[in-house]
Amino acid sequence: MITNKRIPVREQKPEIRRNNFNEVCLGYTKDEAIAEASRCLNCKKPLCITQCPVNINIPDFIQHIKNSEFELAAKSIARASLLPAICGRVCPQETQCEGQCIMGKKNDAIAIGKLERFIGDWSSEHLPTPELPKIQNGHKVAVIGSGPAGLTCAADLSRMGYSVTVFEALHKAGGVLVYGIPEFRLPKDTVVAHEIENIRKMGVKIVTDAVIGKAGSIDELMNKEGYDAVFIASGAGLPKFMNIPGENLNGVLSANEFLTRINLMKAYNDDYDTPVKTGKKVAVVGGGNVAIDSARAALRLGAEVTIVYRRSENELPARKEEVNHAKEEGIQFRFLTNPVAVIGNEKGWVKSLKCIQMKLGEPDASGRRRPVEIPGSEFLMDEDTVIMALGTSPNPLISSTTPGLEVNKHGCINTLEDNGLTSREGVFAAGDAVTGSATVILAMGAARKSAVAIDHYIRTKYNEQTHEDK
Ligand SMILES: Cc1cc2nc3c(=O)[nH]c(=O)nc-3n(C[C@H](O)[C@H](O)[C@H](O)COP(=O)(O)OP(=O)(O)OC[C@H]3O[C@@H](n4cnc5c(N)ncnc54)[C@H](O)[C@@H]3O)c2cc1C
Ligand code: SF4
Repeated sequence: MITNKRIPVREQKPEIRRNNFNEVCLGYTKDEAIAEASRCLNCKKPLCITQCPVNINIPDFIQHIKNSEFELAAKSIARASLLPAICGRVCPQETQCEGQCIMGKKNDAIAIGKLERFIGDWSSEHLPTPELPKIQNGHKVAVIGSGPAGLTCAADLSRMGYSVTVFEALHKAGGVLVYGIPEFRLPKDTVVAHEIENIRKMGVKIVTDAVIGKAGSIDELMNKEGYDAVFIASGAGLPKFMNIPGENLNGVLSANEFLTRINLMKAYNDDYDTPVKTGKKVAVVGGGNVAIDSARAALRLGAEVTIVYRRSENELPARKEEVNHAKEEGIQFRFLTNPVAVIGNEKGWVKSLKCIQMKLGEPDASGRRRPVEIPGSEFLMDEDTVIMALGTSPNPLISSTTPGLEVNKHGCINTLEDNGLTSREGVFAAGDAVTGSATVILAMGAARKSAVAIDHYIRTKYNEQTHEDK
């Protein structure tokens, strides 16, 4: 008999995990995964697939799990995604595949993400490294940025036989997966490193410490170094601030800087010489995944943390699972509250955050009710550190060093939606560099379309059959 309730997943207990950076969710065992997979109805018209931006054949891989055919499940996912252990952990499944799952209409939706994660982890333990593509077609493609968009496009093109080099500005590959999302949600040295290593073993070359726009430009890559096409996947790493008084005080940090210090520079680990000082009380401004991650990281460094968000709980854009985890761990939330100034002490360090209370007014362009200030409702919160997690925009380095590359008023690269072609011939782009900060799976989905378009562009140029025509 099919059960209505999903198989619960094991997690570290809140009172323990709030003191460590180890992964919170422990994933399904083999028996739990088989039991959860057995709940899937294997629908004739599976709505779950319609909401997967990379088109994973979800019922197919779930049926393989049900039959204990884990290798076949892994192969089924790999046709669409080479990052299952990552996506299984961080994709917002509740609004995508699981949001459409027919079981979810009356009962619990199938735990598609947790099953994908199970297969990702199983593969890394049991499957050999992927084989190199058999035929090299002799054409070269450069990819700028090694986040999910860059890695996905590089892997797809490599499978088609292209020689692909990824140029990454930082000393480690992975983009936000390594510098943004914390260890307790996405382990770096095991999960992320393993999936990136697989892409390397497929023949993709990754050059780190290579900032395109400073060390070499897109024009040089194409005109001097013989790349037939360039794919820009440089993300949206430029933090936004509120432009309120006191924002330049010591103790005000962007979430990007704070999380980079923690994730990439391992500030939480005493063996590293790159600590980050938070003091006892931390306010995090914002309500997205970045705000929740910053708050939970600050908590683990020993601070008392409050999230300050100008709308109500219903409008929180962060993943529900992460909000629940944050609450369980003891993060406080101040909804309908907006900072108006940061107040400093005589030494120039943060002393308090001056906020005003808000109420919800009429819906704005996003369809959400606009927060409106309540006059005279200002109050002070004593804080040692304020972390601004208000979103990011693309760094202008690439656009300012690439003549003819059009961007919109937010600095995002203009592209044709269905193939990522930019205003420059042979130059394609996708991911956060195009959309502004979005999600891992949207970046991957757009990157896959660009890979097909790049193949088409190069084959047409050389009068060859495209990969799809074969
Ligand atoms: C803290 C945080 C938490 C998040 N949580 C989630 C989540 O739970 N689920 C989810 O789906 N999404 C989440 N996101 C969003 C998601 O991570 C991004 O949408 C996704 O990583 C975008 O992928 P990308 O490849 O376009 O860019 P990125 O991952 O940003 O990668 C871009 C890469 O390009 C490199 N680069 C930039 N400029 C240059 C240059 N000039 N030369 C060479 N390299 C360059 C950068 O160093 C970076 O490595 C989160 C984001 C953050 C910051
Ligand atoms: S919609 Fe749900 S029940 Fe149907 S195939 Fe997809 S995961 Fe299974």
